[in-house]
Amino acid sequence: MPTYPGVLVSKLPQVGTTIFTVMSRLAAEHNAINLSQGFPDFDCAPRLLELVTKYFNAGLNQYPPMAGVMALREIIAEKTAALYGAAYNPEHEVTVVPGATYAIFTAVTAFVRPGDEVILFEPAYDSYAPAIEVNGGRPVFVRLQYPDYSIDWQAVSRAITPRTRMLLINTPNNPTASVFSAEDMRVLASILRDTNIVVVSDEVYEHLIYDGHQHQSVARFPELAERSFVVSSFGKTYSVTGWKMGYALAPKELMAEFRKVHQFNVFVTNGPLQYVLAEYMRDKDAYLSLAAFYQRKRDFFLAGITGSRFRPLPSRGTFFQNLAYDAITDEKDTELAVRLTKEKGIASIPLSVFYHDGHCDRVLRFCFAKSEETLAKGAAILRGI
Ligand code: GLN
Repeated sequence: MPTYPGVLVSKLPQVGTTIFTVMSRLAAEHNAINLSQGFPDFDCAPRLLELVTKYFNAGLNQYPPMAGVMALREIIAEKTAALYGAAYNPEHEVTVVPGATYAIFTAVTAFVRPGDEVILFEPAYDSYAPAIEVNGGRPVFVRLQYPDYSIDWQAVSRAITPRTRMLLINTPNNPTASVFSAEDMRVLASILRDTNIVVVSDEVYEHLIYDGHQHQSVARFPELAERSFVVSSFGKTYSVTGWKMGYALAPKELMAEFRKVHQFNVFVTNGPLQYVLAEYMRDKDAYLSLAAFYQRKRDFFLAGITGSRFRPLPSRGTFFQNLAYDAITDEKDTELAVRLTKEKGIASIPLSVFYHDGHCDRVLRFCFAKSEETLAKGAAILRGI
């Protein structure tokens, strides 16, 4: 058997299998209600599937343009102008990509050099730190403040050094379900004012925002937009997480560097699906109605767990509801999540896996992008714990 001398010195020694795969697999093994990994358990709109049939039969099955089908780039730019008042040029400043994870990885790869520091907030979505580390960068974590997960902006200022190349933000935020306020964005702009720091803003849940909160895209803030990538995902917006389709927006000079990496990584994104999405995006209601749709699901789930010993934390955006369990047990969240899956038949995501040091506030994340039937079954189990 070969020994691979030197080869198996991992570039990502800390990385195991992502928690989403681990928990979904465990849920399947134990036939548990799966409120762990974030994906809808219902299908996308029938109209979207009609468009799939139309465009996969339209002879459009060869390579599309490298940056994306122009009709899609144009309608993405129109939507961004209408919602956030920002003008992105479809030719140079909009790129269609195979998912948001890819866009984040590509932006990090295009700018982060060995020894560079990247500031990110934790708990952090689990793809961020590995993307930085595999490129030789160093993640610098600023902890959001439990229980409302607010931002300590002074800690952000203190984290900036001459080596800071990039800052990664995510609003609405996975896994905390918190959102940035307009004031947060103004403070961020002022902190970055005299720096060359590039911002990557993960906005995949831009349309999933509740209780009258408004999505604060970096695109709304010209001073931030000029140094930022905005990343979005059709998977969340149209309930097609398996399609792996998304887009990135950035000023021309930044996007030119992004595309250098993009063209030699994937080169192009699935062509026929881009035509599908270009036509489907004309229906503004399909994304504008999402907030009300998911708020009803959140409230249905919350009503279902009334009287349980789990304590809901605010869910202002995303399709996640966090529940604190300190009134139930002092077990570590990773152990509890496994035990509840095996013994009670309900799977969730433990928040400590999103902290580099395993910090645990005794919180589990539950996904409410599920049918009422699934949510009712899940809630009934939780009431009995
Ligand atoms: N983003 C989804 C979540 O947070 C899962 C995506 C994945 O499985 N990588 O649950």
